Amino acid sequence: MQIAEKIAEIASELAPYQARLIAVSKTHPAESIKEAYDAGQRLFGENKVQELTEKAEQLPKDIEWHLIGHLQRNKVKSIASFVSLIHSVDSIRLLEEINKQGEKFQRQIVCLLQMHIANEETKFGFDRNELMAALPEIKKMSWVRVVGLMGMATFTENQDQVRSEFRGLKILFEEIKKSHCGGNIVMQELSMGMSGDYKIALEEGSTLIRIGTTIFGSRNYHN
Ligand SMILES: *Cc1c(COP(=O)(O)O)cnc(C)c1O
Repeated sequence: MQIAEKIAEIASELAPYQARLIAVSKTHPAESIKEAYDAGQRLFGENKVQELTEKAEQLPKDIEWHLIGHLQRNKVKSIASFVSLIHSVDSIRLLEEINKQGEKFQRQIVCLLQMHIANEETKFGFDRNELMAALPEIKKMSWVRVVGLMGMATFTENQDQVRSEFRGLKILFEEIKKSHCGGNIVMQELSMGMSGDYKIALEEGSTLIRIGTTIFGSRNYHN
């Protein structure tokens, strides 16, 4: 199926929910992104800073670029002037750098806090205690705006496990929304769900689904 058809199909699945699609274009060429753009897609996600900045230069300026992959502190300056949303903020030290670059560019940088919800060692993110300790610190960072949480479920066939991880993240999201918001922290976006699990994520309250393979096909990492 063509990229445009895939996007239309996902859009119809999204319609009953208050959720938006991030088209994850990592490893795919600018021409594929243009095809999605011509089909009306404006939100794109990349996981590497260099790839994101190169594509942003080549493609229309009304694209909203989302960084979804692990971000190193020394790379923040390359995206600080234009990135729409950083989904993958996983430490206070990284936030401090984002705050610093925000001030330099005189632009409040919008972020999600990545939570470690998977039953796997390899995924980045805050745990609950780290998050609670971070919130008062974040309130002092005026060039950062935190608008929600992001999480990646365990890579497993076990749908009950995936569902319960997403549900746990949604419960935490609601708890923070109720008791810890204010100033530069608001809980509006819950980024969860990829090609393999976005239907479950939608049912569990996702507002941003990040989909690559279903739209663009499988990735070739040998380049
Ligand atoms: C690659 C990636 C996705 C998209 O994964 P697909 O399975 O191709 O849909 C989503 N989120 C993150 C953080 C990713 O790195």
